[in-house]
Amino acid sequence: MDMRAMVDRLNELARAYYTLDDPLVSDGEYDALYDELVALERETGTILPDSPTQRVGGEILEEFVKFTHEKPLYSLDKAQSFDELRAWDKRVRGRLTEKEASELSYMVELKFDGLTLVAIYDDGLLTRGVTRGNGTVGEEITAQMRTIRTVPLHIPREGHRVFQGEGLMPYSALKTYNETAAIPLKNPRNGAAGALRNLDTRETARRNLICYFYATLDGPEEFATDGEEKDYMRALGLPVHPHSKICATLDEVMEEILEIEKIRPQLDVMIDGVVVKVNNLPYREKLGYTVKAPRWAIAYKFEAEEATTLLKDVAWNVGRTGKVTPTALLEPVDIGGVTIARATLNNFDDIQRKGVKIGGRVFLRRSNDVIPEILGKADDLGREIEMIEHCPSCGTQLIQRGVHSFCPNTLSCTPQLIARINHYASRDAMDIRGLSEKTIGGLMAAGHLHSIADLYELDPQELLELEGFGQKRTENLLTAIDQSKERPLDQLIYGLGIGQVGKKTARDLALHFDSLEELKGATREELEALDDIGPETSQAIATFFTDPHILSTLEELEAAGVRGKKIKGEEKSQQLAGKTVVITGTLSQSRSHFQELLQAHGAKVTGSVSKNTDFLLAGEKGGSKRDKAEALGIPILSESDLEALLEEAE
Ligand code: AMP
Ligand code: ZN
Repeated sequence: MDMRAMVDRLNELARAYYTLDDPLVSDGEYDALYDELVALERETGTILPDSPTQRVGGEILEEFVKFTHEKPLYSLDKAQSFDELRAWDKRVRGRLTEKEASELSYMVELKFDGLTLVAIYDDGLLTRGVTRGNGTVGEEITAQMRTIRTVPLHIPREGHRVFQGEGLMPYSALKTYNETAAIPLKNPRNGAAGALRNLDTRETARRNLICYFYATLDGPEEFATDGEEKDYMRALGLPVHPHSKICATLDEVMEEILEIEKIRPQLDVMIDGVVVKVNNLPYREKLGYTVKAPRWAIAYKFEAEEATTLLKDVAWNVGRTGKVTPTALLEPVDIGGVTIARATLNNFDDIQRKGVKIGGRVFLRRSNDVIPEILGKADDLGREIEMIEHCPSCGTQLIQRGVHSFCPNTLSCTPQLIARINHYASRDAMDIRGLSEKTIGGLMAAGHLHSIADLYELDPQELLELEGFGQKRTENLLTAIDQSKERPLDQLIYGLGIGQVGKKTARDLALHFDSLEELKGATREELEALDDIGPETSQAIATFFTDPHILSTLEELEAAGVRGKKIKGEEKSQQLAGKTVVITGTLSQSRSHFQELLQAHGAKVTGSVSKNTDFLLAGEKGGSKRDKAEALGIPILSESDLEALLEEAE
């Protein structure tokens, strides 16, 4: 392959990976070709302008150069309520003829909250990146823009082309960055703006920004609607967010706005509202502009997802594994209609890096997790938070493992025991219905429960003494406990709560080993010979089975008749065996969750849709894969379709 072909191939592979989320080759193959290109560039001293090696940054610029926009970038008018939106709709219709108004449709899209970017391409090559600035004059950030992997360095079109989009730091990138950053970033907007307006392009590259384009500012018109414009940009390889909707009526627009508000916490990019645009481009021309904004578009702003509040105190809690974690107790604050009084602080390291103090103000953000996260400090007031040295529950001296503190007293530290037994009884483990955390706590307080094995020794009288337990409830619970003896081995292994062993690993282990006894006897080498089991997991399993307290509990379980039924790969929920499945779009949980679920039922999960695909699991939107599946006539299943399918076969 010559240099040109290598660059083209690498750019194609990168686009599939970053923009289409649909890798064509393994990471290893990409890296090998990339290294080859680096070597060739070094050898020949030539670097093509669209070479992917130009993306890593490295240049440190002297200063920013001003750039006057060819066409001014407009601002957007705002609507704060549906009433204001209705008024805008009325104004729009008033400026159109009756016939035009009857044909009018709107495009509703996300209003990204990052830094506006303008990308200029000449005869296919990315020649300039510019910030918005004051709308008339911006700053050149070409080198910075090149580090954004989703911005193509080359598009398959001649001529002068100008596109507008938004540079963004995904929440996931922010999280990863903050794990090691000396100064954590407070929010993705600052993260993106600070990266792009940074003279050190290595720092820009480090932030792993992405970009979504939403407008064509120059270039021969090849489209009549916003929808076609988006398709045009996509066809050029420009990243366009899959979530946008054409609405025929204002009612539909409002419905869509509510929908977007609902999925907002699941998005990986920060948005501060939606933009409603007239979909028909000829009508846009007719509607024109005021001095500062187009008449054909309006921004509907959401309430802020972030807030600052007072950090009143920090509470330390002990979890199932003995991990002791700090929770921030806050002056209650409303974020987007939800009152927030607690937030997670992860660990002491995190507290120190963020520099938050008791009595000081903090930034917090509502996220898709139940408990919101503190992003950093908002002032320098307050007193230092001190690390605790003893377990807040049992007083045992804590030990440090990595960045986390643990209470080593697995024997009698109450919250650890409650959580452990609760996990054992949970649905995916031994599925003991009717055994709540409260019941476990009550039994422990009364001295009837000291370990998992004691569950099988409970007598009715002990339960009847508990508040809320009558004859019926007692019987039901005892029956449920008894029935748990019949659970398959994988659920038992999972229920024991071995560190690092989640549902998937428990299943892998249960498929390989016939009994708990066999698993106990396995060497670390034997364990690591299994797919997906690395040294950390094998270590955790080995340690688990050497703890004398655990060993005696296991003996008691065995004596009580809890053995874990042997499972076979073919017998256990293999209703998707031999099926090839592709996942796309935004789902209610992470992709890896669904990947595991599908694999657990025997399916193979691949990255791209082909005629060999049996079905596509599609979440919200999901652009190219969905289109392809439709074109190939491959069934498209929603999450609930999948659920129904799995239940049906069970
Ligand atoms: P504002 O800065 O609040 O006046 O809003 C206008 C800005 O919204 C534009 O300059 C863009 O940076 C930004 N924006 C984000 N998403 C979009 C979108 N989908 N369409 C148009 N503008 C957008
Ligand atoms: Zn403790």
